[in-house]
Amino acid sequence: MTSPLVSIVVPCFNEAECLATLHARLTAVGRSVASDGYEILFVNDGSRDDSWAMMEALAAEDPHLVAVNLSRNHGHQLALTAGLDLCRGDLILIIDADLQDPPELLGAMLEMMRREGADVVYGLRRSRAGDSAFKRATAHGFYRLLASATDVDIPLDTGDFRLMTRRALNVLLAMPEQARFIRGMVAWIGFKQVPLPYDRDERFAGNSKYPIGKMVRFAFDALTSFSSVPLKLASHAGLALSFGSLLIVAYILYGWATGRSAPGWTSVMLVVVVLGAVQMFVLGLMGEYIGRLYSQAKQRPLYIVQAVTGGLERPTPRLGQRADAIANSDNPGGSGTLPSR
Ligand code: UDP
Ligand code: MG
Repeated sequence: MTSPLVSIVVPCFNEAECLATLHARLTAVGRSVASDGYEILFVNDGSRDDSWAMMEALAAEDPHLVAVNLSRNHGHQLALTAGLDLCRGDLILIIDADLQDPPELLGAMLEMMRREGADVVYGLRRSRAGDSAFKRATAHGFYRLLASATDVDIPLDTGDFRLMTRRALNVLLAMPEQARFIRGMVAWIGFKQVPLPYDRDERFAGNSKYPIGKMVRFAFDALTSFSSVPLKLASHAGLALSFGSLLIVAYILYGWATGRSAPGWTSVMLVVVVLGAVQMFVLGLMGEYIGRLYSQAKQRPLYIVQAVTGGLERPTPRLGQRADAIANSDNPGGSGTLPSR
């Protein structure tokens, strides 16, 4: 049996200063863990510096390197999706271009995957020396807020740095949603996923490509893709207001019965309080329907079958994804051509 092909997928935006060192370190890692069976995919996400020229030059020298140029800046998660779509590996490593996540951990990840029989080994940030106090604090708060707002078990303090199997990747690629929060989508897939704790380094060169605006959008995508709590706020408020309005109505009627309220006050107050509660409630009801429409629009598989055992040959599920079926039908890996999808 041939050894599995390892793909290393790297989204790059204005990373010219990092590329040469990144390529050298990835090549060393690829050679040590997979001898000839590795490929590196650099995805140029509309960089405005020399990144693409450098990628072309590196790819001309190195048959292991595939350079992909996107038409414009599509954002980290979509650049990563492009690379994942085009890679051919049986095992896939996702890593940033700035060397904050040490590529040398690939060996340990492969070993852990084998030992644990896992489909995903994800890097768990034990420390993040290279990140600003502001970034650390907001990330810390954000991952905990997200965890409280969703049922999906999205691991805390984890980026996209991870190793995954082809069958897990194929399920990920079968999710056609537009707003992609990939670390959450991978968690959603299921199978066995295990953490590998590591210390995050400083950026090798240049500045973060995630200014505050992009960070906020990313957080918003995550929250709205994995939680309908914000949509349901109105229905919670409506419910609370309905109970509250009962008390207020009692108070208003008490004033009216004892003749203490000014003329007209009772009727105006009753209309305001009751209508307010009804409106909130109806808004909340709409939120519930919009939430359902939204989750339908995401078109995720309804479930994913990991294995079936016993009995006669069973049909492939129609509404869900059968992981082995996807794994066998698509991208066998190492075929020497780019997949057509
Ligand atoms: N990136 C990208 N497109 C963007 C922004 C970032 O492909 O629009 C890449 C970037 O080149 C890097 C990765 O996404 O490889 C993570 O970005 P960065 O390291 O700047 O984020 P940080 O570590 O500061 O959160
Ligand atoms: Mg970084």
